[in-house]
Amino acid sequence: MGHFLVNFDTQELETTACAFLILGSGIAGLYTAHTASRFWSDVVVLTKRGIDDTATERAQGGIAAAVGPSDSPALHYEDTLTAGAGLCDAAATRILVTEGPARVEELIRLGARFDRANGLFDLTREGAHTRRRILHAAGDATGAEIQRVLSSAVRENPRVTVLENHFLVDLLVKDDVCWGVLAWDAVREKLRVFRAPVVVLATGGAGQVYRDTTNPGVVTGDGVAAAYRAGAEVMDMEFVQFHPTVLALRGAPRFLISEAVRGEGGILLNSKGERFMLRYHHLGELAPRDVVVRAILQELAAEGGEYVYLSLAHLDPQKVRERFPTITRRLSAYGLDLATDLIPVAPAAHYLMGGVKTGLYGETNLKGLYACGETACAGIHGANRLASNSLLDGLVFGGKIVEHARFYRPEAVETVAVSEGLEPAEGLDVAALRAELKALMQEQVGPVRTAEGLQAVLRRFEEWEYLRRKEARTPELMEFRNMFDVAELIAETALMRTESRGAHLRADYPETRERWKRHIILRRQV
Ligand SMILES: Cc1cc2nc3c(=O)[nH]c(=O)nc-3n(C[C@H](O)[C@H](O)[C@H](O)COP(=O)(O)OP(=O)(O)OC[C@H]3O[C@@H](n4cnc5c(N)ncnc54)[C@H](O)[C@@H]3O)c2cc1C
Repeated sequence: MGHFLVNFDTQELETTACAFLILGSGIAGLYTAHTASRFWSDVVVLTKRGIDDTATERAQGGIAAAVGPSDSPALHYEDTLTAGAGLCDAAATRILVTEGPARVEELIRLGARFDRANGLFDLTREGAHTRRRILHAAGDATGAEIQRVLSSAVRENPRVTVLENHFLVDLLVKDDVCWGVLAWDAVREKLRVFRAPVVVLATGGAGQVYRDTTNPGVVTGDGVAAAYRAGAEVMDMEFVQFHPTVLALRGAPRFLISEAVRGEGGILLNSKGERFMLRYHHLGELAPRDVVVRAILQELAAEGGEYVYLSLAHLDPQKVRERFPTITRRLSAYGLDLATDLIPVAPAAHYLMGGVKTGLYGETNLKGLYACGETACAGIHGANRLASNSLLDGLVFGGKIVEHARFYRPEAVETVAVSEGLEPAEGLDVAALRAELKALMQEQVGPVRTAEGLQAVLRRFEEWEYLRRKEARTPELMEFRNMFDVAELIAETALMRTESRGAHLRADYPETRERWKRHIILRRQV
């Protein structure tokens, strides 16, 4: 894997210096920017497209926090560990659940309006939560509310500058010290250098490496790929969460139907109209996501077809429509009524549990480089993320980064970098490459994997090695290169892990094995 995507000489590029640089404008990036602005006066956020073009904006179900009267951080901790299938980091998870409620309160102080009933939070339940602990907004538009609040907080903040249409290309690292980034200004179509002693990756996950995904187009694994190329450790890359209930209509986008729909009583039916989840798990439709995905795949294998059905027909239709206005509206565009119809659903790629390996303060193995949100892997999601823990993750570890960075004293390193020797990339059909990669990942590196399928994908990737010698001068090619790097990491680690655990299901190794109760950490030799 080459170090850089493009040829450049930093001395010839426009250079901007700032104290605190953040890549990405979802919950993780913007909350970090907001918090950092208390201590630094020149915080810069670079984001690939518009400020609100994020996975955060699409989040529906809610944000988990132990704020209910019968709940506690200890119970939230237990549920997170159980869902994580033996791979959660105990210390990081404890931080998530204990510091979470105060971070959520801060969001509320910033103006987030979570739904209430009789003056109290109207908490809902989702899979594998033993308590009602999910706060939601406007029924099923929680992410849009959080994005609205954080976007306006940073826009109004004179200490934060947000530069849209700025694409992180590569990290600039010398002697294991990160001193800045190379970015593509997509409006002026030029490379720029941003120099900063503190660099925070918050570029989200990598759902776009799959054909069927709930993730928006911007989520192409750029931060994870750039960090890996620069020598950062990545962890748990084989764990990709598939969401069990994603709209499966030919020609329609893979629109998520929130787990909260099952939390409020929605049930799953097979093609014979039988409710099947209770045969697989005592929590029925609210079993952990990996369990529900496996059950759906088994039903499909037994009964044939491409989807099962989600049904709310036994519930009060008025209440269903009021509780889930966004989903109701989206489905009605396809002639479906959430309250009364059988909704065809199938699993789709949703969340990357793995990512850039971080410590308890979002720090990486490269000094000055931090990561938070879906880009990072602090070990709190283990092998299978507990629903609605990811928005919380972005808040809590964004805050931890600021605590750590305040005491970080950068080492002086040479801040000049040159890359040369990459060949022109004319004539590549990037759209065809991207489509092939997504199809390969979907078919062989999806929710069910085998050594044979994974090896076939890795052989195809070997044939693509020449692409790494090409210069990626367009955002399309940069994205493809990042997707290729991340896809390869997922396939390689999925092949290494010869067991099934959490979201990683190997048909040829169906058992969970004690000796695999450990993480796979990869670092590129630089
Ligand atoms: C449909 C859907 C529903 C979900 N529902 C829930 C839910 O109810 N509860 C929950 O907890 N989680 C939910 N999730 C997961 C959760 O939304 C995400 O994990 C979380 O929002 C990730 O936040 P983030 O800030 O890490 O990344 P994102 O919100 O994805 O933001 C990433 C940012 O990085 C930018 N970026 C990417 N690449 C580059 C680059 N090269 N250069 C510059 N910028 C870049 C993007 O443009 C974007 O601004 C849902 C996810 C989806 C897709």
